[in-house]
Amino acid sequence: PAPRPWLEHYEQHVPHDFQPTGHTLPQLLQQTAQHYPKHTAMTFIGARTSYAELLTQAQQLAAALQKMGVKPGDRVAVMLPNCPQFVISFFGTLIAGAIVVNTSPLYTAHELEHQLQDSGSETLIIMDMFYPRYLEIQERVPVKRVLVTGIQDALPFPKNLLYPLKARKEGTWVNVQPQEHVLNFTKVIDSQTPYPAAVDMTAQDVALLQYTGGTTGTPKGAMLTHANLVANAEQARLWMDLTTGQEVTLAAIPFFHVYGMTVAMNLSILGAANMVLVPNARDIKMVLSEIQKNKATLFPGVPTLYNAINNHPDTPRHDLSSIRACISGSAPLLLETAHKFKWITGGANLVEGYGLTESSPVTHVNPIFGEQQEGSIGLPLPGVDALIMNDDGQPVPTGERGELWVAGPMVMKGYWQRPEETARTLAERGGKVWLKTGDIATMDERGFFRIVDRKKDLIIAGGHNIYPREVEEVLMMHPAVLEAAAVGIPDEYRGESVHAVLALKPGQSVTEADIRAFCKQELSAYKVPRSVEFRSELPKTAALKILRRQLAQEATERVIQE
Ligand code: AMP
Repeated sequence: PAPRPWLEHYEQHVPHDFQPTGHTLPQLLQQTAQHYPKHTAMTFIGARTSYAELLTQAQQLAAALQKMGVKPGDRVAVMLPNCPQFVISFFGTLIAGAIVVNTSPLYTAHELEHQLQDSGSETLIIMDMFYPRYLEIQERVPVKRVLVTGIQDALPFPKNLLYPLKARKEGTWVNVQPQEHVLNFTKVIDSQTPYPAAVDMTAQDVALLQYTGGTTGTPKGAMLTHANLVANAEQARLWMDLTTGQEVTLAAIPFFHVYGMTVAMNLSILGAANMVLVPNARDIKMVLSEIQKNKATLFPGVPTLYNAINNHPDTPRHDLSSIRACISGSAPLLLETAHKFKWITGGANLVEGYGLTESSPVTHVNPIFGEQQEGSIGLPLPGVDALIMNDDGQPVPTGERGELWVAGPMVMKGYWQRPEETARTLAERGGKVWLKTGDIATMDERGFFRIVDRKKDLIIAGGHNIYPREVEEVLMMHPAVLEAAAVGIPDEYRGESVHAVLALKPGQSVTEADIRAFCKQELSAYKVPRSVEFRSELPKTAALKILRRQLAQEATERVIQE
């Protein structure tokens, strides 16, 4: 059997034998609403909703969906940013026994079309400002009913009246005409009693289809069950230094991505925390002012978000000292980013974690209590088993690199209607179902894991394996650099060569030669970028992950044209 040295760390800090409660997500909300009915569940631009109110509104939506014909197991697509309607839609859909299909507001009409078709979603809950994208494709998707809502619907008087004027000025306001199958979300809820019909539901039922490229790139829906999602919130809860009923979570990372859903939403509900909702994580001014106004204590995020705060001109004017604990996930956290963020908050405990859509998502986090290891994703969470495997499916000796496999109650059921992709990604071994992550990692003798890279991001130049992360760490050390990505592009002699894409800090200027000279001091010659490109900003997903594949593709196309 493979060694599990991380269990030694647990001795002092966390239970060895994690047993998930096996609750469904509606039970999670019901329990908190029962014990903390008057506690604030969410704060949105100053408007507060208590846990009792949130549960009532979710039940009203469930009753309305049932009346419209939504049956258990039906798919309900949700296209909303972080706002009260998202949380109500999520739990309302689940109380009705239906499955939530998360869609990203950044999707093009074409991407939305694919997802609605693939998931067979007959119901869509959408923000008014995204509605035109649905109109473009309505003839080609299975949607039979649409519930439309707007930011203003979640605001108290008089902000609700002022908001449309502001949105109109910004050109985002859409006047949606109610039709027979297009209904106003708020009116639908207000007209219902909170007594949906009871539904036969178990924690093993699928709760969510979360679309991801996975390791093969084809967009597909990871089927996450109630048990998967609740277990992951419970696992993270054991790890966190969190006081039930006392915390304020700054929820800027999107709930429509599984990382925000578990760590910002479900974990908050489990801990009866107040979720401060920020609809757009790129709006750093709003993030800063909401942290200060609400004295946020927990701030889960991603490296690009912490980095943007570190470098924003308004940051020094804000008091961020209420922040205690932050998990950074979804991409490598560069040391420079972590150090600066700790410094500007006066010592917030920012730890790096790791996960993926298929594992609900968190599997590893650095210890919040006890020693952390910088540059490492930390230890497996309680209830997570982890192995590093070679290409023949055998564990490698400690310290050697291989593919990271994980097992535990948070591992997905499979991909929606894609048995072959499921078979490629899940493997049975020793009585457990293992998820092959597609990430290359190492484990040291104390059980700390490091992601060396993604299998497919590896750059192979002149026979050398180059891990982009290592090059990016160096690029980020340059004082003028704000954001950096290193990608592989075709090279006549070497097969591939390293190409760097950079965004500079405001007011800075450097040349390609400066950057290459800087890298030469820190890296072996074959790792130094052969070419450097400057952009005002790097393209990112809605969850603020840098779109490396797009950068590589664009640079490759240019090389081919030349
Ligand atoms: P997604 O399924 O979109 O959440 O993407 C999951 C992928 O993000 C993982 O397979 C990793 O490649 C990457 N990832 C997540 N967290 C980290 C981290 N801390 N360091 C490096 N890569 C990460």
